[in-house]
Order: sequence, then structure tokens, then C-alpha cells
Amino acid sequence: MKEILADYNLTQMEALVRELGEKPFRAKQLFDGVMRGHDLSSVPALPKPLVQKLLERFEDRPLEVIKTLTSADGTEKYLYRLADGNLIEGVFMRYKYGNTLCVSTQVGCRMGCRFCASTLGGLVRNLTSGEMLSQVLKVNAAHGGTPAKRQVTNVVLMGSGEPLDNYDNVIKFVRDMAAEGGINISPRNVSLSTCGLVPQMHELAREGLPLNLTVSLHHVTDEERARTMPVAKAYKIADILDACTDYFNATGRRYIFEYSLIEGENSDAAHARALVKLLKGRPCHVNLIRLNDVKERDLAAASEAAAREFLRLLAEGGVSATLRRRMGADIGGACGQLRASYAGNGGACPKSGETR
Ligand code: SAH
Repeated sequence: MKEILADYNLTQMEALVRELGEKPFRAKQLFDGVMRGHDLSSVPALPKPLVQKLLERFEDRPLEVIKTLTSADGTEKYLYRLADGNLIEGVFMRYKYGNTLCVSTQVGCRMGCRFCASTLGGLVRNLTSGEMLSQVLKVNAAHGGTPAKRQVTNVVLMGSGEPLDNYDNVIKFVRDMAAEGGINISPRNVSLSTCGLVPQMHELAREGLPLNLTVSLHHVTDEERARTMPVAKAYKIADILDACTDYFNATGRRYIFEYSLIEGENSDAAHARALVKLLKGRPCHVNLIRLNDVKERDLAAASEAAAREFLRLLAEGGVSATLRRRMGADIGGACGQLRASYAGNGGACPKSGETR
């Protein structure tokens, strides 16, 4: 694979243009074109010889939308092809406060969660920051958005992949999204979801980025967690909670737990009470969602009634929680790694009991 221009920030493009012996203002033209979602060969106003020179070294289309499915509720699912032929997915969701794009951080995943579709084939490779950024730029452009008038306002790192397993590229992506003159999405409007990689959670606390931290907890004991999440053998719930505290102390931001309700595994009243015990008094919010069926997996969703009772018990115990609606179910947008989960409301936690 050649290099990807979206991996370059404006300063790097300025150096590149200098290196190629071009006039300095070409860097801004190139940067603006990329930020508007153009492929290299269609960046406006660039002289042909420069484009030719760049094409020798850079991919024309680092990411191409090859399919879009639209749900009755307005949710859209995107299928993208990367320059090396790998396929990844994204989901675009509309909310009152803006539009959220669910971004993938890896092709596949090596965390092995039993309920998750993106882990079925293991990890293929990490995405570069530019490949993550390109998902945002392409979908923004597809909706007629520009950097000045964005159609993608919020980002959730809940597509395929474990963001903290691709740490440096993900951090660069978050910083590049916030860079001046770029797509200009603040970390406050970005949610990073992790299965709980404790050392990287502590590292994240030191980055000085006001990201919304979301942790896929799903269980109340390490033993039960290890049955569906192999990562539980490496990191204990107690250590995950300590890392959340570290994150809160360093950033002042509340954190969120994902809890997917699975029949016979984690969804009865005893689990709800144990979850209250674990989380009561913490500056956190719980997003409940009924498991989305993955046909390759032998796990089933808890019933709607069980989910409501679980929510009621959390509220009764004083733990802030929401039961999430499964968006885009008719287009498979609701499948595990792509589903409409924490919905990029800028980190403002919805009121307890609210269903969206
Ligand atoms: N690797 C990261 C982010 C990607 S998954 C993480 O683990 O958090 C985004 C969310 O979807 C996670 O909370 C994940 O546990 C959840 N998920 C995966 N498959 C699911 C399914 N079939 N039903 C419900 N939630 C699922």
C-alpha cells in the first residue's frame, strides 16, 4: 500500500509540498481538499503535474464507500473498502443534538468477546489515523457537509476493533479531528469505548484529552465476565474501576459503562443488585442494551421485560442508567460492533430511565 494523505496534518503537508518544490499555498489547498472528503485525484485547483507526483507516493482512494443501507428510522450503514481491499463498516445515526458516526479502529479484533461479530476472524490489521479520519470525511461529504458546516458532529469509536489496542493511531486520529482548519470535531464529542485494557486506560487519563470514556463491562464478577470476554482473564473489574477513577480525577469527566443484557448470563435481578453495589456513588452512567443476536454465536438477548426490570432495579439502587433503543435493526446496523450504542450526546449523560 502507498501512503495515505489523510495521515498527514497541515504542518506535514506543508513539509511535503516544500520537499516536492511546490509553492507553499498548495499545502492548504491539498489539506482543504482532503478535509472536504475528496480523493487525491479530485482535489480542486491542484495542477495536474503535482497530482501526478503525489499519486506516485499516495493512495488516490484510501477509503471508498461501496455500499449504503438506510433504515426506516434514518440510521445508515456504510460499507467501506480500504486501499488494500479490506472491508470495514460504519453507522450514521441522527439525533436531536446532531449526527453521530460510529467509526472502526481496526480490521477485525483480537479481543475475542463471544457475543461480538467483529472478532470472528481475529485481528487483520490496525487502521491508520488517516483511515479513521477518512470514514468521518467521506460520510460528512456524503451528507453535503464541509469542515465549516459539519454533518457529522459526534463520533463514537464503537465500530470494529479495540481502540486502545491501536492506541497511538487512535490518539492521533482524535487530535487530528480537533486540529484547527480541519474537520473540527472536539474530543468532547468523541466517545472511546474499550473492553477494559487497564494500562492504556491509565495512559489515556494522562493525554489531556476530554474524551468520553466508555467501558464495556457487561458482567458483575470476573468469573462470569471471563465466560464471554477473554480479556477478563488479564484485567480484573476492580482494576478497571480504579482506572475509571483515575480517568475521572485526571479529566473531571463522568464515564459510562456498556452493559449488554444476555439471557441466562448477566440479566437477572441478582445481577442488577450486584451492579448497583459495584457502581453506586461513582460518577458514572450505565447504558443497557439487549444483546443483538449474532447468528454465529449461541447467545440470546434478555427479554424486553427483563431489560425493563433490570433498569428499574438500577434506578431504585441509585445508579444512573438508560435502556437504549436498538437503532437500524432492519439494516443490521444494530449488530454488536456497529450498533447505536452510546450516542455521542457530547458526554451529557441522559436522565435515568430515559429510553431513546
Ligand atoms: N472494542 C470496543 C469497542 C467496540 S464494540 C469495546 O469493547 O468497547 C462497541 C460495543 O458493542 C461494546 O460495548 C461491545 O461489547 C458491544 N457489543 C458487541 N457485540 C454486541 C452484541 N452482539 N450485542 C450488543 N452489544 C454488543
